[in-house]
Amino acid sequence: MNCQDVRKRLDAWVDGEMPASETERITGHLENCAKCRQHAGALRRMTTALDRLPPLKTPAGLSQRTMQAFRKGIERPGLAEWWRELSLAMRSAVCGTALAGLICGAVLGTSLLSLTPDSGTSLYQTLYISEGFYP
Ligand SMILES: [Zn+2]
Repeated sequence: MNCQDVRKRLDAWVDGEMPASETERITGHLENCAKCRQHAGALRRMTTALDRLPPLKTPAGLSQRTMQAFRKGIERPGLAEWWRELSLAMRSAVCGTALAGLICGAVLGTSLLSLTPDSGTSLYQTLYISEGFYP
């Protein structure tokens, strides 16, 4: 175990949150490495100082306000609600656009099916020619 590996795990070591075998390996490293021992000591002093701080008092209603803000942030109108809010003209436009997309897809799909490997032109050229779009 090298110094970098030990320092990554020092938090857990100080807090006693690791398996005994890993604790022993880190303890063994700290006995032989002054730099890591210094890091561990600083971390332990900081943890002890933080543990001595008085508990924080949360403002009344903080939890409720936080949850309300969270719900407001993630709740979005669903598709059904969005559809109900559209005017008749907008609903018609959405349906027309979807229908146009379906027709374009059907035409393009049909054109692709009619291509043969020996057509001598690229797929796009053949497609454009068949639809009269090719310059
Ligand atoms: Zn070390």
